[in-house]
Amino acid sequence: MPRTPLIVGNWKMHTGREEAVRLATAIAAGDVPGVELAVCPPFPWLVPVATALVGSTVGLGAQNCWTEESGAFTGEVSPTMLAELCRYVIVGHSERRRILGENDDAVRRKLTAALAAGLTPILCVGEDLDMREAGHATAFVGAQLESALSLRSDADVCRCVIAYEPIWAIGTGIAAQPADAEEMASEIRAVLGSLAGGNAGERIYILYGGSVSPANAAAILAGGNVDGALVGGASLKADSFLAIAAAAV
Ligand code: PEP
Repeated sequence: MPRTPLIVGNWKMHTGREEAVRLATAIAAGDVPGVELAVCPPFPWLVPVATALVGSTVGLGAQNCWTEESGAFTGEVSPTMLAELCRYVIVGHSERRRILGENDDAVRRKLTAALAAGLTPILCVGEDLDMREAGHATAFVGAQLESALSLRSDADVCRCVIAYEPIWAIGTGIAAQPADAEEMASEIRAVLGSLAGGNAGERIYILYGGSVSPANAAAILAGGNVDGALVGGASLKADSFLAIAAAAV
């Protein structure tokens, strides 16, 4: 079954309240047939953005969640809470892994909790430049996938979205070569096929993230294994985000 392109905006720690509502409203108004869109605003803007998106098909996602449903975890937000508002949650973004010390174990527990709450986790994986230059990118990404997903059933794996985001491409303006993104997406399908033992490798959505722009999106999405994009900087302007979406069809 063909996979409908999915373009997700990760607004990171950007936008004020009014700007977030304006951006969500403009994205909701931009009709891109044949493409699924989603936006992941900062936590405080989830409610106003959810309100701005009422009546539109644009999905809502959070950028992070905690590992437990409730409890004494000051400052954290549970997937169960997010599931009241959101369809998606980003898990294991490299900024959280690097800056906040989130390790593979925490990522696995967050993904597990997100699935239990009925959310669609967008699991971020990707190598740094040293790994790539040493020729270890595929093994590194494979190990991240295995850590997060090896205990999950094929059905659970199919409920996830994988975002391949090479760290050296995030926010640098240097996107992966389309052939490299395509090759890694194909490797990810192979790993997931062997891990879950079912057809997750064929069914799962794989996004590419890292300096996606209206200029490079069509080439990155052309290969057949990359189903969409996780977009940071270019998701903060409705016209560039919608142009990336238009390039996906
Ligand atoms: C991201 O942070 O997920 C990302 C892909 O950022 P950018 O598009 O700005 O490289």
